[in-house]
Amino acid sequence: MKRVALLGATGSIGRQAIEIVEAHPDLELCAASSGSSPLDGIAAEHTQVGGDLTELLDRSRPDVVLNAVVGFAGIHATLWALENGVDLALANKESLVAAGELALEAQRRGGGRILPVDSEHSALFQCLEGRTAEQVDSLVLTGSGGPFRGRVRDELTAVTPEDALAHPTWRMGPKITIDSATLANKGLELIEAHFLFDVPYDRIEVVLQPTSIVHSLVRFRDGAMLAHLGYPDMRVPISYALTYPERAATPLAPLDFTSLTLAFEAPDTETFPMLALARETGEKGGTYPCVFNAANEVAVAAFLEGRLAFLEIPEVVGDALARADGSPARDLDDLVEVDRAARAIPVA
Ligand code: NAD
Ligand code: MG
Repeated sequence: MKRVALLGATGSIGRQAIEIVEAHPDLELCAASSGSSPLDGIAAEHTQVGGDLTELLDRSRPDVVLNAVVGFAGIHATLWALENGVDLALANKESLVAAGELALEAQRRGGGRILPVDSEHSALFQCLEGRTAEQVDSLVLTGSGGPFRGRVRDELTAVTPEDALAHPTWRMGPKITIDSATLANKGLELIEAHFLFDVPYDRIEVVLQPTSIVHSLVRFRDGAMLAHLGYPDMRVPISYALTYPERAATPLAPLDFTSLTLAFEAPDTETFPMLALARETGEKGGTYPCVFNAANEVAVAAFLEGRLAFLEIPEVVGDALARADGSPARDLDDLVEVDRAARAIPVA
């Protein structure tokens, strides 16, 4: 029996994870949490609504923590798993982006493994299995381009949250769906890939693959590439992380090749500046990625509440980065302070 602590159980990833756990005889839910909505179907002593998740984790002794909390709020759980040598099935990319080196240090001390749940990173993880660093030339992250792919800036001045929430290929929570529309999600994923696979930014490429069938690719030094294909369905990477290395069966239909379109195109970083901003931020390092993430969370929340225009999201994030000094955090307290300070950025 593998004991799973599911954090963010009421969300998009959380609900799909419950389906995977229920269908697998060797997986058992030992803890579940949500930010605000009540949890049912699991004994009250194993659940928590809001508050400090590390107490729940201490009590429930999981074999794997599936961190499906949205945003920086997931940081404590990520560090807890890495520090305690517990497998971390990581959907909460924001925590790894913000913590960066601190997370890797916790991992070196505690020995916790990171099993990526983000579909692109699960794909890369699988393509990289059994290879050495010297064999790898570069990573290629794919993205759908979101609902506004192909538009120019003038066509984005008046877009509403409703327009931005209509993602063409994935059904996800609201924050990541807006991030997909601005390409901030691909930017966060670029930084996530850098920390997960220890590959420098100039060897991580981003390419759009609008049907979201190719989940990412690895280029090897001999000229060969490996790609990971599948329908856009998060149950696959969730199941892979929770049952690793078993690769349990899922209820998905087999991929139908005759109906596939696999065209690729370059992202438009002028219309969608968040991707280039994230790359610059990652390269500067220190706590700049933490600031990028915090300001983005604030800007996305303001956009969803109708207080900020879509095109102003990158402006808010750019302002926050310009105000920050980016010096590395020595510990979690430092990082929490950097996150707090970045959130003080004024939005309309
Ligand atoms: P969601 O909004 O649907 O769910 C978020 C969950 O986190 C909910 O259970 C909510 O109650 C909980 N939560 C929110 N704020 C919290 C707080 N302050 N403290 C504790 N819990 C809190 O989000 P989602 O789409 O499931 O995404 C979750 C994470 O997974 C994000 O980091 C996202 O980037 C990542 N991710 C999601 C998908 C997807 O398909 N949804 C794909 C790849 C990665
Ligand atoms: Mg992804």
